[in-house]
Amino acid sequence: MTRIVYVNGDYLPEQEAKVSVFDRGFLMADGVYEVTSVLGGKIIDFAGHAKRLERSLAELDMSAPVDQDELLTIKRELVVRNALIDGMIYLQVTRGNPGDRDFVFPDPETTPSTLVMFTQSKPGLADNPAAKQGLKVISIEDIRWGRRDIKTVQLLYPSMGKMMAKKAGADDAWMIENGHVTEGTSNNAYIVTGGKIVTRQLGTDILHGITRAAVLRFAKEAQMVVEERPFTVEEAKAADEAFITSASAFVMPVVEIDGTAIGSGKPGPIASRLREIYIDESRKSGL
Ligand code: PMP
Repeated sequence: MTRIVYVNGDYLPEQEAKVSVFDRGFLMADGVYEVTSVLGGKIIDFAGHAKRLERSLAELDMSAPVDQDELLTIKRELVVRNALIDGMIYLQVTRGNPGDRDFVFPDPETTPSTLVMFTQSKPGLADNPAAKQGLKVISIEDIRWGRRDIKTVQLLYPSMGKMMAKKAGADDAWMIENGHVTEGTSNNAYIVTGGKIVTRQLGTDILHGITRAAVLRFAKEAQMVVEERPFTVEEAKAADEAFITSASAFVMPVVEIDGTAIGSGKPGPIASRLREIYIDESRKSGL
């Protein structure tokens, strides 16, 4: 089955889905993106992702190509046309194709933004065996730019971080700034210590994870104590549990940091419970 991709109003076979070499997403990484998961054919946390997209666009003075209703319609259409059961929808908006290369932003009246969306099928996404095993992470320096709260397509350093992890025989990397963990290369980072769930507070130094918001809400509803503050790698190594969250990994336990086992070295009960709650609730509320 040929994948059907959405490009600026058209649903096209993937071979025909193209954007210009002058597109600012290609030349300048002048674009933002969102990844939403799909479970059982339902789109998870649409509202959260749509809201963050609006915020990313506004922060970069970029116009929204479609409104939220249209966004949902396109996503649903892609799910249907690709017979997607479990997987992800990738969405990218760029500042468009001004027809040449120039640092100055083009006039949005004459250069409309580019909107691309495609699906990625991941059968059994919620039964990822990694959740039973847990992830090994390494720590690396965080050398990204200062507006990590905007979900831009500048993913070179996160890609390099994943490669550093792979080289070291690990699954992912946690990034460190001024001695404290900011976040994972493509996820938010947490530890469980002293009976509390600890994760860095929101700011311009991390992405405001949509899964993070949902998981912290569920944790509080389940009477778990949440503390939003920075933590060090040393504190993480001595913690009872560690885990990450993201739209495609949900809640995923971390069992090793820089070669040191966390707690029992197995996925902890809080991470496992939160994963269960998140997946159950998401299935219920998916659109
Ligand atoms: N931090 C970073 C750097 C990310 O790339 C991501 C996922 N795109 C996240 C956190 C998690 O965000 P979400 O839960 O919205 O997927």
